[in-house]
Amino acid sequence: MAHENLQTLYVNELRDLYSAEQQLVKALPKMAKNAESEDLVDAFTNHCGETKNQVSRLEQIFESLGVSAKGKKCVGMEGIVQEGAETIDEYQGSVLDAAMISAAQRVEHYEIAAYGAVCAYAELMGRGEDLGLLKETLQEEKRADEKLTELSKIVNEDALAGEKENALRGVGSPTSRSKKTRSAA
Ligand code: FE
Ligand code: ZN
Ligand code: FE
Repeated sequence: MAHENLQTLYVNELRDLYSAEQQLVKALPKMAKNAESEDLVDAFTNHCGETKNQVSRLEQIFESLGVSAKGKKCVGMEGIVQEGAETIDEYQGSVLDAAMISAAQRVEHYEIAAYGAVCAYAELMGRGEDLGLLKETLQEEKRADEKLTELSKIVNEDALAGEKENALRGVGSPTSRSKKTRSAA
């Protein structure tokens, strides 16, 4: 059935975000586990803690709306998380860090877009308390993205330096390098 009220869209987008955040609570520890840079490990771990708070904020909103939190799987986030997971098999060392930063920034930008939309609906519908909570999360996502940009400057340089080192040693393309074995879990 096609809906034509903003409240329905609002609730469905919140449910989509709820699914997205829960997927990230699972994905971020795996990224932290595979990161080489200690600063990147800290950034993923710290944002995982924030993400758990973001899940709680959404639960508060569902409760005040009197609706269930469940009901929608965020397939967009599923795809972004899947691509991030693939980088773990494809790259290693500081190049993997660079790839995971790129993947994580896709996550943050997706979330920034989604929270921007629900903030606008909440404001329009006079849902002031929701808006406060959603804005807090939006700020966290923006800061997480900025932090990743900052870290990428060092990590990308390390990745480039590693490549030059390998070229000097006559090591071939990334595909010819032996893969470190990593647990998929
Ligand atoms: Fe989030
Ligand atoms: Zn989604
Ligand atoms: Fe986030």
